[in-house]
Amino acid sequence: MASETEKIHALLQPCSTESLISSLGLGILCLVADRLLQFPIIQQNDWLRALSDNAVHCMIGMWSWAIVIGVKKKTDLGEIVLAGFLASVIDIDHFFLAGSVSLKAALTLPRRPFLHCSTVIPIVALTLKFVMHLFKLKGSWCFLPWMLFISWTSHHIRDGIRHGLWICPFGKTSPLPFWLYVIITSSLPHICSFVMYLTGTRQMMSSKRGIHIDV
Ligand SMILES: [Zn+2]
Repeated sequence: MASETEKIHALLQPCSTESLISSLGLGILCLVADRLLQFPIIQQNDWLRALSDNAVHCMIGMWSWAIVIGVKKKTDLGEIVLAGFLASVIDIDHFFLAGSVSLKAALTLPRRPFLHCSTVIPIVALTLKFVMHLFKLKGSWCFLPWMLFISWTSHHIRDGIRHGLWICPFGKTSPLPFWLYVIITSSLPHICSFVMYLTGTRQMMSSKRGIHIDV
């Protein structure tokens, strides 16, 4: 049985000083990265602009997950890289909708591609949770639906500065204010960590990492 101290540790880890400083760092990354992308040398080249934009999605996804797990071991890096991959890979739907690998075609779509509909995030995360439960993958990969949720949400919020959030089939919001994007992105890992604790996922993750905590 887990001690109360261990349970409290699992709950408070995302509120630790280092975690809060990391969150501040994430906010600064959001502020700085999008300013850097405005440099003419980047804006004048479609490929450079697309790749650097995607790299920022990747970095935000990685940083967010690092806050959730609190990097302690080398093995945590694999998870962090996976979170970054998930945060950046959804832009591939631009090419699917364009039906071409042409960047020009992918950037001039008549409508937004399906993975950019924010309603898809909870649907895919819950479906993944259900499938994992079905195949009894719950223990070792219990974090995956949450990782997907955080990575994709951070991507959508950032895209939301320019395009708003597309909540299909209900429509879309107006573009998000930049300050709101920074606040949501830097607090998302903490909010999710808290909900993960309430749903028992954090305890299961802690147990996987060597701290045994019963829910
Ligand atoms: Zn996007």
